[in-house]
Amino acid sequence: MEAISKLRDVCDYAIANIKVVDPENERIFPGCVGVEGGKIAFVEEGLPEFGDKTVYDGGGLHLSPGFVDIHVHLREPGYEHKETIHTGTVAAASGGFTSVACMPNTSPAIDNKSVVDFILRKAKLSGFAKVYPVAAATVGREGERLTEIGRLVSAGAVAVSDDGAPVSTAQMVRRVLEYASRFDIPLIEHCEDPSTSAGGVMNEGFYSTKLGLPSVPAFSEELCLARDLIVLNAVKSKLHVAHVSTRGAVNRIREAKENGLPVTAETAPHYISLEEKDLETYDTNFRVNPPLRSAEDREAIIEGLKDGTLDCIASDHAPHAQEEKQVEFEYAPPGMIGLETTFSVVLTHLVEPRHLALPQALALITYKAAQALGIPGGTLRKGDAADLVLFDPTVTWIVSSDGFYSKSRNSPYIGRKLSGRVLHTILDGTPVVPSEAAL
Ligand SMILES: [Zn+2]
Ligand SMILES: [Zn+2]
Repeated sequence: MEAISKLRDVCDYAIANIKVVDPENERIFPGCVGVEGGKIAFVEEGLPEFGDKTVYDGGGLHLSPGFVDIHVHLREPGYEHKETIHTGTVAAASGGFTSVACMPNTSPAIDNKSVVDFILRKAKLSGFAKVYPVAAATVGREGERLTEIGRLVSAGAVAVSDDGAPVSTAQMVRRVLEYASRFDIPLIEHCEDPSTSAGGVMNEGFYSTKLGLPSVPAFSEELCLARDLIVLNAVKSKLHVAHVSTRGAVNRIREAKENGLPVTAETAPHYISLEEKDLETYDTNFRVNPPLRSAEDREAIIEGLKDGTLDCIASDHAPHAQEEKQVEFEYAPPGMIGLETTFSVVLTHLVEPRHLALPQALALITYKAAQALGIPGGTLRKGDAADLVLFDPTVTWIVSSDGFYSKSRNSPYIGRKLSGRVLHTILDGTPVVPSEAAL
């Protein structure tokens, strides 16, 4: 009885009758979670007695740490017609994400302290998700002058990247890695060799010939990655590879890890679920950079997730307005939204085909993602922020264009059936979405 009364004393409320998914310890068990002062007070098996404490009935739903997405384009400042920090973080919460890292290709770019301050202030005002700004590696992302990484880090930036494009030259990669290493933050690299990718809108191969569209060879990604890994070997700073899409890149990262290089990598949900042949409809929502690849590449990506070569999955949520996408395929901007479908794609394409068990699959969008970026989140330890998500893995749903909280609708999954729905997202102990979504 003593243990029970202790439980009662240490929480403001508890959620019981849930299946706790603990990715860090690779466990699922029936239990309850106690929350006190916005933090996790306990995670217990079974159903203890709580006396007069408020106990919410979880209705048998699964509960996991809130998801962490380390690659999101929130578009503000500069492209508020596509997304804002408010709509983007509401979309995040709706998809079960309690922490997101936002990329610097805004206008102006996140290349000075005042833009970092602006983003953090706006995110706090909205209060739907924790936002971690990724600063530009070079001023204006133009590849010529380093940003003041020290000042950006003290303002709250957690990494640097020129995402949208790779860092301009090997010498610049070297200087960014050297500078970033002083603050122990990673360079997040968008791997693409511009001399081989210029003008390309889809993967090079049978389908690009069939569809008559200008193409990008798979080796474009690997060329840039090889350059970066050679520099990394000399500098020994942290490199994180964004949106890995090819077999060649997976193999190079595997080899680099075996050689002890400090490299981490993410892939995106579309590279585990879609392929170049999906472009046969010429639907511009399937245009993305790097482009959707071959069936063999998709298999290699899944293999890379299974053996740990790829550390995590990040959405690369890239909203575009409808009128921007309603043009011929070649002229549509690359990118797809992903915050509200990533969890379901992971469930449908990794867990259901039994590539990974549920805790291992959720590890890719919880603690492993957080670790790759060196930010908190994604665990269920006592004292952690009570960032939690309740979901039903058995529900199936058809993705519909009017079902998004994001300001944009450019999802390739519209009309497709996915499994698993997020029902409640809790941030620092407070429910935020869907019921509380205020647009
Ligand atoms: Zn990119
Ligand atoms: Zn991106």
